[in-house]
Amino acid sequence: MTISLSKDEELSKNVLLYNTLTRCKEEFSPSRDGTVRMYACGLTVYARGHIGNFRTFVCLDVLRRTLRHVAGFNLRQVINFTDVDDKTIKAARAAGVSLRDYTDQFVQAFRDDAQAVGLETVEEYPRATDEENLRAMAKTVMELETRGHAYRSDGAVYFKISTFQNYGKLARLDHDGIKIGARIDSDQYSKHDARDFVLWKVTKPDEPSWDFGLGPGRPGWHIECSAMALRLLGDLPIDIHAGGIDLVFPHHENEIAQAEGATGKTFSRFWVHVEHLLLAQGDKMSKSQGNVLTVRDVLDRGHRASALRYVLMSTHYRKQLRFSWESLEQAEESVTRLMDCVARLDAVIKASSCPDLDARISQVRQAFAQMMLDDLNTPGALGVVFELVRDVNTAIDAGKIGIGNVENLRAVFDYFDQVLGVLSLRRVEDTVLSVPIDEIERLIAERQDARKSRNFSAADQIRTDLAARGIVLEDSSSGTRWKRGS
Ligand code: AMP
Ligand code: ZN
Repeated sequence: MTISLSKDEELSKNVLLYNTLTRCKEEFSPSRDGTVRMYACGLTVYARGHIGNFRTFVCLDVLRRTLRHVAGFNLRQVINFTDVDDKTIKAARAAGVSLRDYTDQFVQAFRDDAQAVGLETVEEYPRATDEENLRAMAKTVMELETRGHAYRSDGAVYFKISTFQNYGKLARLDHDGIKIGARIDSDQYSKHDARDFVLWKVTKPDEPSWDFGLGPGRPGWHIECSAMALRLLGDLPIDIHAGGIDLVFPHHENEIAQAEGATGKTFSRFWVHVEHLLLAQGDKMSKSQGNVLTVRDVLDRGHRASALRYVLMSTHYRKQLRFSWESLEQAEESVTRLMDCVARLDAVIKASSCPDLDARISQVRQAFAQMMLDDLNTPGALGVVFELVRDVNTAIDAGKIGIGNVENLRAVFDYFDQVLGVLSLRRVEDTVLSVPIDEIERLIAERQDARKSRNFSAADQIRTDLAARGIVLEDSSSGTRWKRGS
């Protein structure tokens, strides 16, 4: 049974979203057909994404789910893969494989990790080096040339910042005093102005190169996103453009300059940015600093992805999140508490139901929606959920809950979970092995070999590692058996 919405609830479906462009919370609804057109900058696939990246992806997943399941809009969302840039090219060369082969593995790793942390599948996952995208990039660059926003120099094409009056409007930069950020391309010697950025790069002889009318070369990082958004999301402006906070400048500023310079229209109505995940000692987690933990690292230490998802979303997305193993343990306790409360409902057999509790359920449902619609107040929404958990536990202890209430309670927990995505994930985890069977069998065989060659420390290590991943080995005269740990 689904609980029908009260008049008040219907009336309160206004979404408030913080817009980096205006530095204000604004009322949000899609501009066309009840469908939110949203672009989120995805991974640069030169390494497996880390949990900092996934903080951004989980928070944007919560945004997507709130817009769909609470506000009731349709979604058309794009998450791209940046599969060509200086870092991917360098790493592929070091590995001695083609760029495509090199990046394929990290695209797949993203898909695995995204599934593990329960991200909803979005409508489009374009790769920068897909031909239709490269063509779209070249077309956008040519458009910029036609409109006088780009120039060529030494075979490369640059965006001429002085031609774009609004440059700096997102990052609030003073037009003349733009500082050169770390991510601005370093090959500045051939630019007319040090602030200009590259649209199409000249490639070195052994680098991948494409020619779609601009001469042989490869796209600059910023043009990738503008062109893929234009190609896949239709008429401008799109509704939401999103990413981590580090992308405000220069990446998103440059995306605006390119898309608006090429079309003469506003690029995106809303800009949403997720604050960073930091390590406990306060450092930003970043691939270039090498201090990264991946989703798989966290799972390998015996934690569950549902608890990780919980940690990543439980701090408000506009606040920095300090990651620690203790926070993961606390999240595990919260998820278990939630699961236990829902499981206790199975044991309720009392025929009558308590009307006060039903009234409270619909109140709580509305309070949850209100929190989420107010710029994704996840800490507030989780507070509402756990108040209900406490009340339900008390009511069960007091024998006050009846079968009728149980149906409404299940419905409201399912409603919460459409946004939180934690219970459904935990249920899947409970039915799926933490380590694939073929890997367990391979490790058992390796351990057997290690023991035969009297390398007992290696054998013990295999047993310890598997135990940390939830698989317990038992030796007997007939061989080694394995079972799920508790
Ligand atoms: P990248 O692979 O560096 O292009 O980043 C992919 C996405 O993750 C972008 O939206 C980044 O802004 C975001 N991101 C990178 N590092 C972090 C971090 N430590 N915390 C949160 N988001 C991050
Ligand atoms: Zn981007």
